[in-house]
Amino acid sequence: MDHSAIKSITKGEICPYCFKGTEYIDSIEVYGRSYGMIYICRDCNAYVGVHKGTNIALGRLANEELRAAKKRAHFFFDKIFKDGLIDEIWKESLPITSKRKKAYKWLSIQMGIPENECHIGYFDVDKCNQVIEICKPVLEEAGLEKGEYVTYESPKMIEAKKTIEDLGYKIHYRTNSEIRFLFKGAIVRYYPERGWASGQSIKDGRDLKNLVSQIKMS
Ligand SMILES: [Zn+2]
Repeated sequence: MDHSAIKSITKGEICPYCFKGTEYIDSIEVYGRSYGMIYICRDCNAYVGVHKGTNIALGRLANEELRAAKKRAHFFFDKIFKDGLIDEIWKESLPITSKRKKAYKWLSIQMGIPENECHIGYFDVDKCNQVIEICKPVLEEAGLEKGEYVTYESPKMIEAKKTIEDLGYKIHYRTNSEIRFLFKGAIVRYYPERGWASGQSIKDGRDLKNLVSQIKMS
């Protein structure tokens, strides 16, 4: 494939599956609701959105398989930068504006590809799977990728969850007896039944009120 054909693919003008020209339509046709314009190949059921306020494609068209792969990759990768986990993984502070950008830089190093090519939107299925292979163990290590099955919520659990979330924290991990969230880049564990809180960024101790007084954002 010559250079201009590749360019037309990344611009969304040519379908990467059948190499035919694409159509530029409103996304209401595929989503039933308008999220802006998309480039689409109807034969391949492949499409891609555009950067807001432009007609510039977010990347190459994706078929159903690739869309699902990208969704999975985002599911894992996004947790790396949300709530600052990236700063825990990679403590060095860089002259980068956002955690997302820092996380992508980190990912590009892990994958051995140039930073400007490192974007889930540009990836094929194999690369999306690589993203998952890289991110999943890191999340597991941080304790953010387990404990998704909660069968019972005690009144103390409900109260603790609400209190912590109301303070602006996102709870990543939860079992019937434990809550985990990030505070100042470190994981805090709280056990509602025992009323015990522990973590590197707080002073371990008993009582939800005690925890709240430490993590209250000023
Ligand atoms: Zn096609």
